[in-house]
Amino acid sequence: MRYTGSVCRLCRRENQKLFLKGDRCYSEKCAFERRGYPPGQHGQGRIKFSEYGLQLREKQKIKRMYGLGEGQFRGLFEKASTMKGITGNHLLSMLERRLDNVVYRSGFANSRADARQLVRHGHFVINGKAVNIPSYLVDKGDMLEVVEASRSTSRIAGALESVKRREIPQWLELDSTAFKSRVRDLPSRDDVTAPMQERMVVELYSK
Ligand code: SF4
Repeated sequence: MRYTGSVCRLCRRENQKLFLKGDRCYSEKCAFERRGYPPGQHGQGRIKFSEYGLQLREKQKIKRMYGLGEGQFRGLFEKASTMKGITGNHLLSMLERRLDNVVYRSGFANSRADARQLVRHGHFVINGKAVNIPSYLVDKGDMLEVVEASRSTSRIAGALESVKRREIPQWLELDSTAFKSRVRDLPSRDDVTAPMQERMVVELYSK
């Protein structure tokens, strides 16, 4: 079931900023900056997790950061586990290649949740073709573009305005004046800079 409560609570629960609230995450209003301990009565005490508990928390954290439900996340893991090489790397790469993430990373949206909605509402084309599926995986060389009629949308223009506060990853090449972002390369493990221990997810699902 998708979580519908306060998203800031999720950051405090996972003890890490998950950047779920757009601009607010980069301001001093960020709840994690103000109260960086888990929510609830025992939040400020020491919580000791078992190995399973740690693996579960890590999986929840990554899943929440990308805003996926359990089924979708598990589906990507299953796909990653059939690929040659390191399953965890493939999992992260596919999470990054999701269209909603690419829209967010390119700076066309302030959060992944916002990006997902914008994609669903048909504000983007890839290589000139309309794509409104947030889980669509981009490929090397793909060109993501904001459709002409949506370029003055305040959500997109506003996000592009505040994108200077965060870094556009190397594997994407943003041309903000043309409202375009090119997938220069497929994302590698090194391109994912947020602290994540995907190995724990692999261990959890391999039990
Ligand atoms: Fe997390 Fe953003 Fe809320 Fe801060 S403002 S706690 S980073 S969702």
